[in-house]
Amino acid sequence: MKLSKPKYIFVTGGVASSLGKGIISSSIARLLQARGYSVTIQKLDPYINVDPGTLNPYEHGECYVTEDGTETDLDLGHYERFTNHPTSRANNVTTGRIYKSVIEKERKGEYLGKTVQVIPHITDEIKRRIQLLGQQKIYDVIITEIGGTVGDIESLPFIESVRQLRYQLGVKNTCLVHLTLIPYLAASGELKTKPTQHSVKALLENGLQPDILVLRTEHPLSADLKRKVALFCNVDANAVMESIDVPTIYEVPLKMHEQHLDEVVLSKLDMPADQEPDMDAWRDFVERVKNPTKVIKIALVGKYTELPDAYKSISESFVHAGAVNKCKVKLCYVNSEKLTEANIGETLGGMNGILVAPGFGNRGIEGKILGVKYARENNIPFLGICLGMQCAVIEFARNVLGWTDANSVEMETKTTHPVIDLMEEQKEVTAKGGTMRLGAYPCTLRRGSKVAEAYGKLNISERHRHRYEFNSEYRDQFEAAGMKTVGTNPETGLVEVVEIPELRWFIGTQYHPEYKSTVHNPSPLFVAFVKAALEYSEEKK
Ligand code: GLN
Repeated sequence: MKLSKPKYIFVTGGVASSLGKGIISSSIARLLQARGYSVTIQKLDPYINVDPGTLNPYEHGECYVTEDGTETDLDLGHYERFTNHPTSRANNVTTGRIYKSVIEKERKGEYLGKTVQVIPHITDEIKRRIQLLGQQKIYDVIITEIGGTVGDIESLPFIESVRQLRYQLGVKNTCLVHLTLIPYLAASGELKTKPTQHSVKALLENGLQPDILVLRTEHPLSADLKRKVALFCNVDANAVMESIDVPTIYEVPLKMHEQHLDEVVLSKLDMPADQEPDMDAWRDFVERVKNPTKVIKIALVGKYTELPDAYKSISESFVHAGAVNKCKVKLCYVNSEKLTEANIGETLGGMNGILVAPGFGNRGIEGKILGVKYARENNIPFLGICLGMQCAVIEFARNVLGWTDANSVEMETKTTHPVIDLMEEQKEVTAKGGTMRLGAYPCTLRRGSKVAEAYGKLNISERHRHRYEFNSEYRDQFEAAGMKTVGTNPETGLVEVVEIPELRWFIGTQYHPEYKSTVHNPSPLFVAFVKAALEYSEEKK
């Protein structure tokens, strides 16, 4: 930490959702970091779920898991991928979590005699949560992204808290960045600023004046248009940024730096801008992403394939691993519910690698098992993650060990071969939220295994999100038949990694390597998987 007191940046959005507030927040963080400041990003989500752990991925995309085992919004994945710095429970706050703690305090009698109200009790709790990260005395800058769109009823308490905080902390200690959309009307060939003006008016009605506007657009914005927006919205002309669609999200920090967004932020916050940001490694990474020398195809077999956001960390891990291998990974989403013996050859035949995705429940499970079988029988590089690893175990039990009814107890409680069983510690658990085996645990790898080769070491730590595990009673039979348990938890012996050494590259992990992959620290397992797929594609030629 360089500063004596932390500074706060708030990022809000207007006009439409999905404008990329998470990417803009991450880009600001990356640029400030590159200037030597320590930065963390926090997301405030307006929904009433305490955390997104109980949400179907179709609602808000993937549930991201932090080191400390908090189930969070997928934007936290972007924060970590951009900043290469871990987030934690304090980095994701929902309306549900706020109300839960206020109601718990009320029940304990902490507000005795008082009427508990949105203002000041809910807003006080929101302000407390925003400042918690600042109190850690590690960060110069705390960026708080407010989920939802300005004007939504449900985000009002967050907006009101920002208003109060800006007043209490002082203007020079806070900065408000507002993201909007400049739509293009093809019929008249015009870019329209009115929605932005209205969105800023909505903020003003709530007592907030943005310092910086970031305008999402599909077409370049003229200086005149930016001046007009500046004039109508009371911001400096140099504080109106164009955020045009780019081929890769990782280019956004560079685009923002070209327009001096980082300098403008620093000057609004009265922070010295003496050090130019060192973005060389980042620029090099973006160049690799944009100029691959080869292309490989990897199938992602899962049941949420209609919404690629459901597998965000996996797809981003492939971008990172592709850059290391100087190749573009074309991810082909394969709906496991539609996979059959009849169509599997034409669906997976042309693939250079097959990944079977994490997931829960019965739907699409047989298709996933078929996907594993196809990879194993055709010796195609394979990575199974969490449920994907469990499917690899089930497939091996059924088709190699000959236990035709082998299954996971999650799918079939009456199976005579429960090769995947409920973890002992889960047997008493009935509540759903935050009760799985979550977060980082150590794992010891077997010397000489492909997984140990991938990591280049024997002791690793990866993140988890599961209730079921490899049933260790069957360990010897699997080992004897050729599926090796090459990664285990050093304390409990829980099987974390399986591998079939006689195949080209066939690995299943109970943990999720995708959660830890960042631009500066790509997941070694994804890097090795892409390398194996690349070698296989060369061999096939
Ligand atoms: N449903 C499986 C379990 O709970 C796998 C979970 C996952 O893939 N994240 O163990």
